[in-house]
Order: sequence, then structure tokens, then C-alpha cells
Amino acid sequence: MTALRLAIIGFGKIARDQHAPAIAATDGVTLAAVADPHASLPDLPHFTRLEALLRDGPPIDAVAICTPPQVRRAQAALAIEAGKHVMLEKPPGASVGELDPLIAAAVRAGRTLFATWHSRFAPAVDPARQWLASRRINAVHINWKEDVRVWHPGQGWIWEPGGLGVFDPGINALSILTRILPQPLFVTAAELSFPANREAPIAARLWLTDAHDLPITAEFDFRQTGPQSWDIVIDTDRGPLTLSSGGKRLVAGDEVLVEAADAEYRGLYRRFIELAATGTSDVDLTPLRLVADAFLLGRRNIVDSFED
Ligand code: NAP
Repeated sequence: MTALRLAIIGFGKIARDQHAPAIAATDGVTLAAVADPHASLPDLPHFTRLEALLRDGPPIDAVAICTPPQVRRAQAALAIEAGKHVMLEKPPGASVGELDPLIAAAVRAGRTLFATWHSRFAPAVDPARQWLASRRINAVHINWKEDVRVWHPGQGWIWEPGGLGVFDPGINALSILTRILPQPLFVTAAELSFPANREAPIAARLWLTDAHDLPITAEFDFRQTGPQSWDIVIDTDRGPLTLSSGGKRLVAGDEVLVEAADAEYRGLYRRFIELAATGTSDVDLTPLRLVADAFLLGRRNIVDSFED
């Protein structure tokens, strides 16, 4: 099988930290070009825009779109129209509805549209799902709190409409939750804290449930300094199950079941290669729908202004 020739669109923090190293470490995919207004890689063709890359660049089979969510739909549409397989960073879009025409276009073109949820590829997520399958779940609590200045330095887009604010990391927790609990979940209430000078929340509390009134709560906060929290605690009839470090560690009671290094993005690329071999799409909008519902139902508090 020849390697998938791929271009990264939007060469910012996640492309640099995760995509480029994962591509280098994965058989079956090779990095052929980059499109970004400023950033580039030595010895690799660089274009400031996707349009120029598609017109003048080296031949490619696929793109990984790592731009801010507000500009992604148009880029994905263009790439599919040009016959490329498309991998979308999370969240898959700035709105839920904008994905429908992309899904249809990918089907028409016989190309893959892969809406990635990198946290679902964390090493403890599938073991957690399996462990929970034979237990009764009494309650779930998510604690997802990180320092925005560390993880999103100077990223103005995250505070703009469609940038999601604290839901940018929070949606990762929701992507894990909806993977480890197979039943449909929905939001019943939310409180969103907006800095006085910003268009997106800096913190949020969510209440969710399922058809059987399972109590699920979530706290997201961008103002966490010191140790960071990316934890989901599930109270079951066989004691607590704790998924921590964003899905790298799994503890049942006192027993450590999983403690493994991060290989999420290599998993994403293996899956993308598999999907592209048959032009199949994989687009699950469940986590994005939960976030949209939190915005629909959320009470809004105005809190202190935030300066980067
Ligand atoms: P980022 O550092 O701001 O990178 C985005 C890049 O896209 C920037 O280099 C930006 O260039 C470029 N860009 C903007 N508009 C463009 C356009 N029209 N064409 C080509 N490039 C364009 O953001 P990020 O942290 O990498 O996040 C990107 C996405 O990845 C987000 O959806 C985020 O949720 C997801 N993600 C991020 C992380 C993380 O830890 N940061 C983790 C997982 C997933 P300019 O800066 O010059 O505008």
C-alpha cells in the first residue's frame, strides 16, 4: 500500500506538538506540505492558504485541518471538492448544522471525512468502557480544569463566537463520556461564566442525565493554576472507577488498571489511514451536540475580565 500523502492545514500548537510527530511515527502516511499564514517546516513545501496549496502544491491525497473551528468548514468543503480525504481536528465545526453538507459532499465524492476526537484514543478509555459494561452506574462527575494561559497562549479565536471558550477542552471530556457510556445522554441544565470582555465562557457547570435519571455533573474551568485536572469519576455498584490524566490512567477502587503514555494522535492517524483505504467517513457529532445544548440551556454569569 502506498503511503497517504498528507498536508496539514493550520500549523499551530496542535499541529506542531502532535500531528507532525504522529505522522513521522506512523507507517502509511507522509507529510507532503503545510498551509498556514505564517508557520512552516524546514524542507517542506509551504503555502499561506489551502487554495494555493491545492493549485500549486505537490500531489496530495489528504488534508488534516488544524485551523481554528471558525474557518474549518469552508476549507473542508474545498478539500473534498478537490478529491481529498479530510481529517478534522476537534471540535468538528463551529456549529452542528455545518457538518451535514460536508458529510453529504464526502459521500458524493467517495472520500473520507474523519471528525476526530483525540481523547477517545487515550489508552484508558476503551478499558473503562469495558469495565463499566458489566457494572451498574450510580453517578458520574467530571472535573476538567486547566490553565488557559499554558494550553492556549495568545489564541484569540478561542474567545470569539464559535471558539467555544472552556468547552474547547471540555468537549474532550464529553467525547470520553459519550464513548464509555453507550446510552444516549442529554444536558438538563448549565451555568456558563463569561468574562466581561469575552464572547465565550471561561468556566461552565453542566448537569446531564440519561433516560433512567443517571446523575452526571461536569465542571469545566480555564482558570486552574498549579496541578491540572482532567478526571472523570464514576460511582458504580462495585465501587468508584476513576479515569484521570485525560484518559491515561484508570483506577478501580485502589487498583491501578491502566497507566500508559499518550499515543492518541498515532491512533488517530492509524484510523484515518484505515478509513481512507475505503473512502469511508467517521463523523460522530454527539459531543458537539451536548456543547450546543449547554449553550441553549445555560444560564449566563458575567465574571471578571480575562487578559491573556
Ligand atoms: P493555534 O495554535 O491557534 O493554531 C491554529 C493555526 O491555524 C495558526 O497557526 C493559524 O495561523 C492557522 N490559521 C488560521 N487561519 C488559517 C487559514 N485560513 N488557513 C491556514 N491556517 C490558518 O490553535 P491550536 O491550539 O493548534 O488549535 C487548533 C485546533 O486544534 C482547535 O480546534 C483545537 O481545539 C484543536 N486542539 C488543540 C489542542 C491544544 O492543546 N492546543 C489539543 C487538541 C486539539 P495564525 O496564528 O497566523 O492565524
